[in-house]
Amino acid sequence: MHEVSIAEGLLQIVLDEVKKHSISKVRVVKLKIGELSGVQPSALTFCFDLIAKDTPVEGADLRIDMVPVKVKCLDCEDVFIAEDHSFFCPDCSGLNIELMSGRELHVQEIEGD
Ligand SMILES: [Zn+2]
Repeated sequence: MHEVSIAEGLLQIVLDEVKKHSISKVRVVKLKIGELSGVQPSALTFCFDLIAKDTPVEGADLRIDMVPVKVKCLDCEDVFIAEDHSFFCPDCSGLNIELMSGRELHVQEIEGD
């Protein structure tokens, strides 16, 4: 389950911010996760809750913002959302594409006291 190591990495980032801004209790953690990152939001939430125990992040509300896979066709400049991981350009059926978003995996915002 690679969500454990991802959760550990994210928690470390949150804890660094907590230290920097002298936050005593984190209430909300907002994450941005690309659909191509392969992360299961429910599994990540589960792991995060588990490892956040006994830290200022314990009990924080994890809000996950899933980022769709956005692709640009380099042949016709069309930008489209690759649903069902179909990377063919809907306009010209080309496969000469560039990934614009979908691999995100980061902490976007932290709210706390
Ligand atoms: Zn195209």
